[in-house]
Amino acid sequence: MNCLFCKIISGEIKSDKVYEDENLIAFKDINPKGPVHILLVPKKHFATLNDIPASEFGLVAKIFQAVQKIAKEQGVAELGYRTLINTNKDAGQEVFHIHWHLIGGKKLGGMG
Ligand code: 5GP
Ligand code: ZN
Repeated sequence: MNCLFCKIISGEIKSDKVYEDENLIAFKDINPKGPVHILLVPKKHFATLNDIPASEFGLVAKIFQAVQKIAKEQGVAELGYRTLINTNKDAGQEVFHIHWHLIGGKKLGGMG
């Protein structure tokens, strides 16, 4: 499959990795929107949030557990951070392998 994030998971494309376990990988966004901008990507390929079956919501919980851990490690847990998923065109999704953005390290504006 010609998927950028699958290639990052396999190591074919380099990334600045901050965390990895059997379910997910987390690495720095190449075009950060804040001092901290991490992408959390499940190792299983799902194109969008719409494509995650109910049977995989255990994985979703594990990703949010990793968000907690990484936010703490990156030093933004207490001051604050934003976690978001872009889905499809109107949200501006660019990479069609679901990922959670974790953005912080500065005061973030409104949702616009
Ligand atoms: P989306 O718009 O799909 O929610 O987010 C895709 C994100 O992936 C963007 O924030 C973009 O900067 C990031 N990105 C795109 N290509 C690469 C890459 O090759 N490496 C890394 N680390 N991030 C990337
Ligand atoms: Zn993929």
